[in-house]
Amino acid sequence: MEFRQSNKLKDVCYEIRGPVVDRANALEEAGHSVLRLNTGNPATFGFEAPEEIVQDIIRNLPNAHGYSDSRGILPARRAVVQYYQQRGVPGVAVNDVFLGNGVSELIQMAVTALVDDGDEVLVPMPDYPLWTAVVRLAGGKAVHYVCDEEAEWYPDLDDIAAKITARTKAIVVINPNNPTGAVYPKELLEGILDLARRHGLMVLADEIYDKILYDGTEHHCLAALADDVLTLTFNGLSKSYRVAGFRSGWLVVSGPKQHAADYLEGLTMLSGMRLCPNVPAQYAVQAALGGHQSIQDLVLPGGRLTEQRDVAYKALNEIPGVSCVRPKGALYAFAKLDPAVHRIVDDEQFVLDLLLREKIHVVQGTGFNWPRPDHFRFVTLPRADDLETAINRIGRFLATYRQV
Ligand code: PLP
Repeated sequence: MEFRQSNKLKDVCYEIRGPVVDRANALEEAGHSVLRLNTGNPATFGFEAPEEIVQDIIRNLPNAHGYSDSRGILPARRAVVQYYQQRGVPGVAVNDVFLGNGVSELIQMAVTALVDDGDEVLVPMPDYPLWTAVVRLAGGKAVHYVCDEEAEWYPDLDDIAAKITARTKAIVVINPNNPTGAVYPKELLEGILDLARRHGLMVLADEIYDKILYDGTEHHCLAALADDVLTLTFNGLSKSYRVAGFRSGWLVVSGPKQHAADYLEGLTMLSGMRLCPNVPAQYAVQAALGGHQSIQDLVLPGGRLTEQRDVAYKALNEIPGVSCVRPKGALYAFAKLDPAVHRIVDDEQFVLDLLLREKIHVVQGTGFNWPRPDHFRFVTLPRADDLETAINRIGRFLATYRQV
């Protein structure tokens, strides 16, 4: 008897933790040190959890051993409501908030509750690939709209409009963006909302990097820009609060909820089916949102994250045939390999060869549903010196690397 994966998994992929990870693990088991630039996991690079969050979890741990309400504990949901009130989102109440084991779980729930076989969801290209994977897993079709590298990686509104069909149910907006680091201006977000309004689309706003902003760039919370478009906003503690391992995030429903009663009934049922999110980690939410926002110190000029972004941007653009748009937010650089200089035909092979030779693990651009093998992404989390050394090593590798 042979057990095979279900047909549902055909076309579902998540390359950030894809097959190359096993090769990286094998190298480490063989005694090599591998620089893991594939996942946005701040803890790996010496970022500590804010003390007040840890203390709050420890204090509450003795009372956190039972299931909670499926949506999550009230103090945490109240803190989320308050956060979005401050950000200008109208009409959010505690029952519009669902806590989850990270944003990842909530993305799966939100899409599963919405998508029927053959339904289409507009997803950016490049994307954070969980979105595409989850839409496909739900039986839907991820239709990719172009983000334009020549225009700061902003979404192309005409391209979005051209791809809306009678089957389109929703549009995903990732802002600040992973993998490009783009942060979208208000007018662009209003343009997206306008399309959603005209075509009756739900907006799925992934704003997990909303506090990781460089050069004084302002983040506009999409849900605050319209009260007549049903919007689900996703956010959590993994990035801004550097506690990815706690698996804590939230989803907030805003807009004309009266037209979404059936959908919300489905979402509530899925929320109940997973019983509840991990309860100790829910206690971190109120402490995080109510406390000192320590991320600010890291993204100010001269702050650690800004310095690392600067080093990554400069060192990358110094490599012949490599360029990168300056990231305005998030924790990544999405680098372009000029096809006239570096003729990569298989970018997964490129990533594997780089790993084997330099022991540096990055992720191929096609892993972000980018259509050509001419980009790769790495995290800007290592200390500036380490990052600079790593990028210089990538440059040395590229100087002699040939695929064709
Ligand atoms: N959304 C984006 C854009 C991300 O980059 C990530 C993680 O890298 C997630 C969602 C998932 O985050 P979580 O740790 O909350 O599941």
